[in-house]
Amino acid sequence: MGEVDRTAPVYSPRIRRGGSGGSYGNSHENRHPDDWRQPIIDYLQHGKLPDDVHKKIDIRQRASRFVYFNDTLFRRSFGEVLLRCLSSTETAQPMNEAHLGVCGAHQSGAKLHFQIKKMGYCWPTMVKDCMENAQLCQPCQFHANFIHQPPEPLHPTTTSWSFDA
Ligand SMILES: [Zn+2]
Repeated sequence: MGEVDRTAPVYSPRIRRGGSGGSYGNSHENRHPDDWRQPIIDYLQHGKLPDDVHKKIDIRQRASRFVYFNDTLFRRSFGEVLLRCLSSTETAQPMNEAHLGVCGAHQSGAKLHFQIKKMGYCWPTMVKDCMENAQLCQPCQFHANFIHQPPEPLHPTTTSWSFDA
């Protein structure tokens, strides 16, 4: 678990005992019915599967990568590090914190996604959301790597006299 311990204390996915404690990912009471985590939680907790055949197979396959503990869903990542699963409404803050926060270095989308995983969070549309977030950042647009080359090659000009008149 060394990887988790090195992260910032505010966002570390440390398992809390009792109550939501203001942390992300365990807002059990106000979980939205469209929450992507709910079918996985239903399966892990009660063995309940959706009626749709394709969804049923999908949930059964994906569920092995998840752990439900203390009202919080975690995803197993490489090295058995547990990443706290966030709902779509909770992703903006860690994403902004990783991009332009204290330790943020305005990384591009792909790097940003690894940064958030290091912080101990995950959600299914992470890569896409990180790409979009980095594209919308204003300082990133001002300080982008501009190409200073002219848009077309320079035209050679011929002099009408071979010597200075
Ligand atoms: Zn930025």
